[in-house]
Amino acid sequence: MIKLHDKLFKPYLSEAEILAAVQKMADEIARDYKDEVPIFVGVLNGSFMFVADFLKAYQFPCEVSFVKLSSYQGLTSTGIVETLLDVSEDIEGRSVIILEDIIDTGRTLQQLVHLFSKTNVKEFKIASLFYKSEVYNGEYTIDYIGLDIPNRFIVGYGLDYNELGRNLKEVYQLNQTHMINLVL
Ligand code: 5GP
Repeated sequence: MIKLHDKLFKPYLSEAEILAAVQKMADEIARDYKDEVPIFVGVLNGSFMFVADFLKAYQFPCEVSFVKLSSYQGLTSTGIVETLLDVSEDIEGRSVIILEDIIDTGRTLQQLVHLFSKTNVKEFKIASLFYKSEVYNGEYTIDYIGLDIPNRFIVGYGLDYNELGRNLKEVYQLNQTHMINLVL
């Protein structure tokens, strides 16, 4: 069990389990894109660790870029999605694959789809390491999924709780018992 700010988190996914999911995604994407040079766009801040491991698993020609978006404050999605940085590369006529750390309600994704619908990309695909299918209510069908996880707040492997926990190499889950105790 670890403590970040006021909350306790319990171990959920080991480094090996995460890396196996990353490798599976890289293999699937390689199968579809190894004969061209796709542009991978990581969504900051949460995806930095995923992008690094993904690219080590994807050993074919590709380009890499980042956008910065955020819709979370503390433990809940605020619904306000801010675009802090735009993709500056020349993406016209290219295949763009978004690398997301986690998809929850899908609001962030909606913003990304909107952002890229204004461009002349050849193809636009979404790859998300973690996906909460129980709460996702977007229209877009996610193209590549690492792990479908339950609707619990997780930290580690790039994901934070109020900026703490991003550097953890495993993934931890909010300890619900602790939450109930706090409420009582
Ligand atoms: P959505 O817009 O799909 O509701 O939320 C996506 C964003 O919310 C993610 O990019 C991530 O920053 C944050 N998020 C969603 N679920 C979690 C979670 O379980 N843990 C953490 N740390 N962030 C989350």
